[in-house]
Amino acid sequence: MAAHILSGNAIALKLTERVKENVEDFKAVHGIAPGLTVVIVGEDPASKVYVGRKHKACLDTGINSEVIRLPETTAEEELLATIDRLNADAAVHGILVQLPVPRHINAEKVLERIRPDKDVDGFHPMNVGNLCVGKEHLVPCTPYGIIKMLELEGIAIEGKRAVIIGRSNIVGKPMAMLLLARNATVTVCHSRTKDLAEVCRQGDILVAAIGKPEFVTRDMVKPGATVIDVGINRVGDKLVGDVNFGDVAEIAGHITPVPGGVGPLTIAMLLHNTLKAAEIQRM
Ligand code: NAD
Repeated sequence: MAAHILSGNAIALKLTERVKENVEDFKAVHGIAPGLTVVIVGEDPASKVYVGRKHKACLDTGINSEVIRLPETTAEEELLATIDRLNADAAVHGILVQLPVPRHINAEKVLERIRPDKDVDGFHPMNVGNLCVGKEHLVPCTPYGIIKMLELEGIAIEGKRAVIIGRSNIVGKPMAMLLLARNATVTVCHSRTKDLAEVCRQGDILVAAIGKPEFVTRDMVKPGATVIDVGINRVGDKLVGDVNFGDVAEIAGHITPVPGGVGPLTIAMLLHNTLKAAEIQRM
């Protein structure tokens, strides 16, 4: 195996330590702790696990954390009313509605209801717009974490070719904006892209955010490339990424594992964003 494995766990720990120190400073100055409220609707098992991790990470970092659990049958109006209440609560600096929400609820409407300065996921159109014009206020946690990892690992972005597979609002698109802002030449691929393997092979940095187990194989990877695997797929009782790790690690320069790669970075950046939201509201 040739590739250097990028440990998301180790980097997330470093990032979290930094947030913890800054949370202490925030408390000393303002006399209160930053507060995050996560709203979860329904019983999706993976969502419950993610919410539990976020809650614990907040408490470990000195951030106040509340989880509001609503039943699957919750009406859209009720969820919107919950968000309105949290928007008005000065002790709540960050609001996160865990996705996916049940099908009878319009996710877009929900995300647009969150006050932009409390939108720690960075999904509100105002924050998306800010990102597009180069203002990085509250940036989506997963791609932001990937950028922090590349920077901390000293992996050059400027002038490099970056190829992203996946164009979701959560990962693919904000990833493209962040890489573009750091002067990479960015290509975004999706389900209708022709000659996908050939396009992917141009990437010095290849980000896979597809949601298909072990989709990326070595023939899609430029030798020496940095391969970032965002995918989380349950196969039997195992979690696997979107990259065939064993195969690709033989020719990549750097690669993230699943689990222990991008996942922990996402949580670290949620903590970072919660503190940032609190700072913005206290300015
Ligand atoms: P999504 O379903 O919204 O988007 C998937 C994207 O993949 C789409 O843009 C689609 O065009 C593209 N795609 C699908 N099939 C393709 C194909 N055959 N060829 C090329 N492109 C194809 O997914 P998402 O929300 O961006 O998540 C992607 C994966 O990342 C999922 O496994 C998800 O669980 C995982 N994820 C992980 C984290 C984390 O913290 N590690 C965070 C968010 C998402």
